[in-house]
Amino acid sequence: MIYFDHAATTPPYEDVAKTVAEVMARHYGNPSSLHRLGEESSKLLDKARDVSAAALGVRPREIVFTGGATESNNMAIKGAALQFAGRGKHLITTETEHPSVLESVKQLVSWGWEATVLPVDGNGNVTAEQVREALRPDTVLVSVMHVNNETGAVQPVEDIGRLLKSAAPRVLFHVDGVQGFGKLPLSLTDGGIDLYSLSAHKLRGPKGVGLLYVREGLQLAPLLAGGGQEGGYRSGTENIPYIVAFSKALRLAAEGRDARATVMYRLREQLIQGLAELPELAVNSSAQGAPHIVHFSYPGMKAEALLHMLEEEGFYVSTRSACSSKRSEPSRILLAMGKSKEIASSGIRISMGDEHEERDIDALLAALKQSVKRLQALR
Ligand code: PMP
Repeated sequence: MIYFDHAATTPPYEDVAKTVAEVMARHYGNPSSLHRLGEESSKLLDKARDVSAAALGVRPREIVFTGGATESNNMAIKGAALQFAGRGKHLITTETEHPSVLESVKQLVSWGWEATVLPVDGNGNVTAEQVREALRPDTVLVSVMHVNNETGAVQPVEDIGRLLKSAAPRVLFHVDGVQGFGKLPLSLTDGGIDLYSLSAHKLRGPKGVGLLYVREGLQLAPLLAGGGQEGGYRSGTENIPYIVAFSKALRLAAEGRDARATVMYRLREQLIQGLAELPELAVNSSAQGAPHIVHFSYPGMKAEALLHMLEEEGFYVSTRSACSSKRSEPSRILLAMGKSKEIASSGIRISMGDEHEERDIDALLAALKQSVKRLQALR
């Protein structure tokens, strides 16, 4: 079996999975407890924060551990909107954000905020100019993802960050970095980013843990009331085994980033060249996209049928993003890019990881050609 669904979730590194089991069994003390066991857990938490901050190039006190990126996105957007409601109630985001961003914005709109949702171009991109034109005196927050989880489209977040840094009055900038971290370089400090979300399970870490970077000096309204853990933003006893394992995965993702990206760009090119041999197939990912995601459509072919045929051949792929793949409507991301309903209904996403090699791509292409032939014969 070859797993090509890294954008949905990744296989945890063996060492990371071992860390979860070991820390869970041995260091079960509550980090708030005053005895030795508690102190041990507290030290592990501090170390994990240091390691995570170093991987992101930020200060340890700017890291808030969360239960994943859905929570981080909610915390950033609603926390900022509630905190700065007195300054203004206008938000800007894009059409192709993750549901945890778009639904948070929708919730705020239902509570009286206003939102501008920027359209994307045929490659799935927005521009800093679009953001500039949408800015209003009452804009408090802009939220734009780094890399789209369905197509791999890379947004110009550093350009947007620079623009917002110089905006008066200052507008906060949130970036959902889930699909970009460990694949593409991004400086949170130079990029003018105030809030940045990550999820461990997209980085070969455990599910159910993530983080929000909150720039020093910035205050958010906490969404969870309670004992005040994680600087008051995330009350509840800290999940030490997952947090420690996450920090390991983050370190590995940051350290190997450029070498990994070089290999993946090569595999991506190999895949796209192979796909070009299938005449009716349309590649939806732009040439400037992230290294690990290639999305294509086979108009007239049922994507789900193709997915299951590939599965029979030993390849796990996906039709679109995991959070919407159980729905049968056309992909909202492809529709937003101006693709036809037919293209938007017949998409397949291949997302690669650092375990893949050239021969895996060759094998996938062979299986794909075989499956397409079989499906065409059934038409
Ligand atoms: N943002 C993006 C871009 C994602 O791909 C995902 C995962 N599908 C999330 C946020 C949510 O992450 P989590 O599963 O940790 O809640």
